[in-house]
Order: sequence, then C-alpha cells, then structure tokens
Amino acid sequence: MARRRQLYEGKAKILYEGPEPGTLVQYFKDDATAFNAQKKGTIPGKGVLNNRISEFLMLRLAEVGIPTHFIRRLTMREQLIREVEIVPIEVVVRNIAAGSMSTRLGIAEGTRLPRSIIEYYYKNDALNDPMVAEEHITAFGWASPQDMDDIVHLTLRINDFLTGLFLGVGIMLVDFKVEFGRLWENDDMRIVLADEISPDNCRLWDTKTNEKMDKDRFRRDLGRVEEAYQEVAKRLGILPEAGMRDMKGPELMQ
Ligand code: UDP
Repeated sequence: MARRRQLYEGKAKILYEGPEPGTLVQYFKDDATAFNAQKKGTIPGKGVLNNRISEFLMLRLAEVGIPTHFIRRLTMREQLIREVEIVPIEVVVRNIAAGSMSTRLGIAEGTRLPRSIIEYYYKNDALNDPMVAEEHITAFGWASPQDMDDIVHLTLRINDFLTGLFLGVGIMLVDFKVEFGRLWENDDMRIVLADEISPDNCRLWDTKTNEKMDKDRFRRDLGRVEEAYQEVAKRLGILPEAGMRDMKGPELMQ
C-alpha cells in the first residue's frame, strides 16, 4: 500500500490523507507533552490505548445522538475520521476543581463545583492557549453564536453521559477537554465532536481511592502512567483479549 500523505503532525497525533475525499486517518503516537510542550516524554502503549478508548467513547456518544467525526478504527494506532474544519477553541468542562482552575482561583483540588463549569481556550501555541470568553469567540469570528449554542448544548450532553458512564466503572470524571469541527455536507453545516477523548485530555479519579488515572501522572511525575491508562481501558472493558502483549508491535500491522 502506498504510504499515506501526512497533512499535520501534532503533539500526540498525526493526521494523514484518508482513502476517500472528506476522510482523514488519525494516528495515535506514544508521545506525551505537558505545560505547552515544555515537558516531553513517551508513554509506551499510550497511542494504542487512546485509539481504543477514544473509539469506545465516541461510539457510545454516537449511540446517544452526539454527532462525531469518528468513522471506524483501522489498526492498533489508526482510525478513520471525517475531515472537519476544526473550531479553534478548546472547550473544557469541570465538575470538580483541579489543575489550572485550582491554581488560578485558589480552590482546593477535589472541591466539588456547585455546578458544571464550561471554559474556553483559544487554540494558539504561540500564545499558550489563552482562556477566552464567548464574547471573544463570537466577536473575532472563531465561531458564530449559532455554533456556540450547538457547542454548549453538545458539551453539556457529553459531560452528562460520560460522567455516568465513568461512574459506572468506579471513575470520577473531574474535568475534560473537547474540540469540535464543522462538517459540511453539500451546503449544510453541522457541528460535530472531533479530536479525541482519552486520559490525555480528561482528569479521571478512582471513586474509592481518589487515585489519578490520567495524564496528571505524567505531568506530575507520579509514576505508573501506562498502568493508569491500561486500567481505564480495562474498566471500560476494552483491553484486547491478550492484554498488553497484544499492544506491542503495532508498526507491523500497518
Ligand atoms: N486539557 C487538555 N489540553 C490542554 C489543556 C487542558 O486536554 O491543552 C485538559 C486537561 O487534561 C484537563 C482539562 O483539560 O482534563 C483542564 O485542564 P486545566 O485547565 O486544569 O489545565 P492543566 O492543569 O492541564 O494545565
């Protein structure tokens, strides 16, 4: 098979041209970065696990009527997705105070918030993804007021559904980041969930022990990073039959 044309390389993923117009192939790397790429590392097997976890979550979300860019998983590290025009906003939902919210507002990590809070960050590495208000987003035309209505509505439904799904397997969904894209079909446009949902962009805590099962283990050097990602996959019931042995050597499968 001819090598696919690479369109974009991000910190954790690579996008290739897809087999048909309007499709892309999303490849999950083991690379991890934190603090705007000041900290770099590798989490062995992460790409394989995130490919599976994101596939699983996107499929469950689609079942409850959330439109997504996901089409199907192709290999251990690759999934076929619809090509969308990414809205340049990171949408963060918080249920429990942690991370930058705790630092910025002096709220102890672990404090349950009075209600779920949505924040927006403008996707711009050079500016270090600054937090912005809906006013900035609509004034500068990064998204229209109609886009934002759809994004807020979808985000709250995603939060509701994922909170319940994770609680069912003993995991608290503390916060997470999602991205949306515009999917064009003839002259019609709709907003769909894009990017990925995985322990790279969620905070997941064990409901009994409060143990962190997400990228904070990497950010804060807590150790047992790959084990935490594996545990999330295991609880969701999606670790391959053969366990991690099956996770090795994905390059051979391309
Ligand atoms: N997040 C992300 N990408 C980013 C920034 C944040 O996926 O570039 C996720 C992060 O994993 C967490 C949530 O968004 O689940 C909130 O992150 P926060 O603002 O607390 O920033 P952090 O502490 O991660 O710097």
